Amino acid sequence: MSPPRIGVTGNTRVFSGADRSGVNSAYVRAVIRSGAVPLILPPLLGEHHHGALLDVLDGLVLTGGEDVDPAHYGQARHPAIGEVDPQRDAFELGVFREARRRGLPVLAICRGIQLVNVALGGTLWQDLPSEKPSALPHRAPTDRDVRTHAVDIRPGSRLAAALGTTRCDVNSFHHQSIRDLAPGLVVSATAPDGEIEGVEAPPGESWLLAVQWHPEEFHHHETAPDHGLFHALVAATGPLPATSGPAARG
Ligand code: MN
Repeated sequence: MSPPRIGVTGNTRVFSGADRSGVNSAYVRAVIRSGAVPLILPPLLGEHHHGALLDVLDGLVLTGGEDVDPAHYGQARHPAIGEVDPQRDAFELGVFREARRRGLPVLAICRGIQLVNVALGGTLWQDLPSEKPSALPHRAPTDRDVRTHAVDIRPGSRLAAALGTTRCDVNSFHHQSIRDLAPGLVVSATAPDGEIEGVEAPPGESWLLAVQWHPEEFHHHETAPDHGLFHALVAATGPLPATSGPAARG
């Protein structure tokens, strides 16, 4: 049986003088660890590529990165907004909508949870430190696998099932978060200061789970509950056709 193929949305960066397409290896390592094959998706692809791309994918990871352009939720840019990449916004909004239309399972991380909320009609806090100050370190100056604040997980949620717990400490590197929740999403995790840290699709809809923290950064921690998010994504790609005879998919 072939392992499922998981698309991992990438970014563009100038590195050593060259324009590169790629993504943090932590996402790639976390997907490999879960038994799936990661495929990095460059944001340079246009809308006419989305169909061909999704034809070969079994699931999708929306990764962290730049701020979503507030024009996508009808607001002007706050002075403290971070870097914005219109091409990446267009690519990910399009790929996410098509993935949902096809019922592909989606795991969305950091920028990903924000993009999902915007794609479905919600809004964001553009800069938490100036718009909604908190004593919690949501943008922690730590190594990326250091847990700096707690989250409470809603019992019975897809997130609780994936993590195997209803409370855990998480890492946190964000200055934006969900403001108005999009219709069709349900909150599955909150920080002690009330920030939304997890959302998901309700029961009966295809699998969609989004978190504000970075579960991929624990890929090398043997016992981290965060592995459960990637395992749940892979499980949601569904069983492959039974290998009952020579006609079965190879
Ligand atoms: Mn946080």
